[in-house]
Amino acid sequence: LAFCQALPKIELHAHLNGSIRPSTMEELSQQLDGAPISLPELQRLIRQTTMIGFHFLPLPSASPTLLLAASRTLGECFKLFDVIHRITTTHEAIQRITREVLEDMAADNVVYAELRTTPKARPEQGMTKESYLDAVFRGIADYYASSRRAADIQVRLLLSIDRRQSAEEAMDTARLAVQLKDEGVAGLDLSGNPSVGQWGTWRPALDYARQHGLKVTVHAGEVWNPEETAAILAWRPDRIGHMCCLDETLEKQLLDSYIPLELCLSSNVCTESVPSYAAHHFSAFHATGHPVVLCTDDTGVFATSLSREYALAAAAFGLSNEQLTQLALAAADYTFLEPGEQRALRERMEAAVEVER
Ligand code: IMP
Repeated sequence: LAFCQALPKIELHAHLNGSIRPSTMEELSQQLDGAPISLPELQRLIRQTTMIGFHFLPLPSASPTLLLAASRTLGECFKLFDVIHRITTTHEAIQRITREVLEDMAADNVVYAELRTTPKARPEQGMTKESYLDAVFRGIADYYASSRRAADIQVRLLLSIDRRQSAEEAMDTARLAVQLKDEGVAGLDLSGNPSVGQWGTWRPALDYARQHGLKVTVHAGEVWNPEETAAILAWRPDRIGHMCCLDETLEKQLLDSYIPLELCLSSNVCTESVPSYAAHHFSAFHATGHPVVLCTDDTGVFATSLSREYALAAAAFGLSNEQLTQLALAAADYTFLEPGEQRALRERMEAAVEVER
């Protein structure tokens, strides 16, 4: 883990609200007033989240019961997101969690991050999608104003479309992303409960973003849905997240496409999208030379960090320190930065690796 912590790393798949610190979740929940979720229930969910941490700790004594208790199905995860959203309703909360997520990433030696979030309109809080994003930008500014490590981490935003959203809502988000292109928004993401909605609903919004020069990443194959996965592959997103449920045909199409894959080991194992770390498809894709990048998904929900994900991959697939280093450096090429910026990022990382050596 120490080697992985020291390694300069790139985070390309992190959801803002899913990356909330459990301590912040707990603190914000105390301020709930007449909310429909009871405090004991929230505390139970938080405790469960903390327990998920045992998944990746190299504890030979961890009992099977504990590991069983630590897994959480995708459905349960989406319930937890709803809970998190109920305690992060204000601009202040969004601003705060953005700053904290960047602090946590910088402390973990993340040198570049594409942080994604679904802009939310909450009329009862006087919140529009625009003002939600202003709060995110203020959180980023707060981080840069207060951190000694500010120069260490570069940040871009990806705006997420939630699969529960309609075509119009998706298009609103795409328009917003295009408007904010020069303010640090690098692209669009399609995410949310994979069992909800139809790909065709959001495709026009993704087309619009692409036509206006934004990059697009899509969650695909998180559950078994071969028609949708094939349609997404045919659309050729700039990156794809997860891809846990593939048959041979889809796997071949993915390999031929050379589309970079964002892979989140703890998330996939915890939600039982893959049966175990050892069985995770990271290994097969990495072995063929397919572009892959290790990511966290939701550090708060899965109680992980990017270093831990690298350590986990090293333990599960026997990766050497040199292989981990190459994995980390290669991610620069899969960012949504311009080619010159990608080169500069890679050089900065190579210099940091040399210092460590
Ligand atoms: P937010 O967009 O900042 O509110 O981050 C939380 C949201 O990210 C969730 O409500 C989901 O829509 C999405 N999300 C987080 N993790 C996953 C995942 O594993 N699969 C699909 N969507 C996810």
